Amino acid sequence: MNRENQGVFKAIVIGAGASGLVASIELLKKFGKGSVAVFDRLDRVGKKLLQTGNGQCNLSNNSEKIAHYHGENAFFPSSVLNKYSKNIEPFFNSLGIPFTSDNDKIYPLSKQASSVVDALRFKLESLGAVLNLSSEVSFVKKQGNLFVVESKNGIRTIGENLVVCVGGKSQKHLGTDGSGYSILTSFNHTLTNLYPSIVALKTDTSKIKGLKGLKQKVSAKAVESGKVLAETQGDILFTDYGVSGNVSFYLSSYLSDKKSGELVIDFCPALSNEEIESLILAKQKNCPYLTGEHLLLGIMNGKIASSVLRNSGFTNLSAPIKDFSAKEVAKAVKGYKMAVKGVLDFDSSQVTKGGIKTSEFNDETLESKLVKNLYACGEVLDVDGDCGGFNLKWAFASAFAVSNNIL
Ligand SMILES: Cc1cc2nc3c(=O)[nH]c(=O)nc-3n(C[C@H](O)[C@H](O)[C@H](O)COP(=O)(O)OP(=O)(O)OC[C@H]3O[C@@H](n4cnc5c(N)ncnc54)[C@H](O)[C@@H]3O)c2cc1C
Repeated sequence: MNRENQGVFKAIVIGAGASGLVASIELLKKFGKGSVAVFDRLDRVGKKLLQTGNGQCNLSNNSEKIAHYHGENAFFPSSVLNKYSKNIEPFFNSLGIPFTSDNDKIYPLSKQASSVVDALRFKLESLGAVLNLSSEVSFVKKQGNLFVVESKNGIRTIGENLVVCVGGKSQKHLGTDGSGYSILTSFNHTLTNLYPSIVALKTDTSKIKGLKGLKQKVSAKAVESGKVLAETQGDILFTDYGVSGNVSFYLSSYLSDKKSGELVIDFCPALSNEEIESLILAKQKNCPYLTGEHLLLGIMNGKIASSVLRNSGFTNLSAPIKDFSAKEVAKAVKGYKMAVKGVLDFDSSQVTKGGIKTSEFNDETLESKLVKNLYACGEVLDVDGDCGGFNLKWAFASAFAVSNNIL
């Protein structure tokens, strides 16, 4: 070993991302200067946090519905969220970060993720954390009652408690390539299957030819074997492999692990079927000179409309508009089905679905049931939330739970 962090730390925190930073700060407040050693493999803290919410950091969500979370035990996060999500706002307020909200989504008033990272970093430094950056933890073991942690760059550290906050497998350039799971599996914890989530969806490309770059406000459902799994409204963006945009990101949380999912898209959520029908009937009466290509002129994006109609069985769009059934057209536009063929890879995803089995952790303290004084926070566990601030909410709430429970 090249060097040793001297003495026995109250806690060693692996990962200085969203959950690791908050857990470290709370532990330092409790146990004092120099009581916590923090490791991150990257050269600065909170690199992923900087990218969140398109640089605006959607750091929580007001909705308390547990249905926004997924995992083998989807109820696992409920105790921690019920008890600790109320701590998030006062915690950040105390660092000088006031909140603002957009519907239920919560942001820092500055709408700058960098301000959140800076506030956390300044607090961590002021509390006297022993911060080891560019230090990838490669070896951990428990010796008697103490944990021994070693990093690839040769730092050896001993602590009474070990808090694993290494995140998942999404976006390896932000420090998370999935290798962090091995820290917990080396203590005999189990890793579930992993899937990219909050990610763009791949669809049948023959159905989206020529639509690349076009965007439309829609309402859409994720459906599997006829069962509606989730529904949302927002933008859908056509790409050369399928669809992106916030609608796809949201629904991917329900589809990324499914073999035969589909999207059912309503391209005119502002109008009912009857309203679309009467617009078309009026057009057929007032504009008989138009062809099928222009049936939905002024109602929705023309290129998307033609593609939707062609793929819904209206093969001859050069026919006069009187030849089209207004009812059938409305049905096609408001219930367009697209089979989902998969999702983009982990490097394109915001979150990892799956992780270390939650049944192996206490759902109130987040202490391992296998190893005393071993804790896990955030995305490394098999807990993933919907797009909209739910993942950071879990990362922060789980950090409060762990720091509150370490004695
Ligand atoms: C582009 C993008 C945008 C997002 N936007 C949002 C959003 O707006 N709202 C929201 O709620 N969620 C968002 N998320 C998801 C959210 O950022 C994560 O769920 C959250 O950061 C997870 O926190 P964490 O502490 O578990 O892990 P992370 O924040 O990923 O931190 C893990 C840390 O561990 C370090 N690490 C890993 N292995 C080791 C090792 N062996 N040794 C030392 N260090 C290690 C990594 O370098 C990293 O710094 C977004 C994610 C991405 C990628």
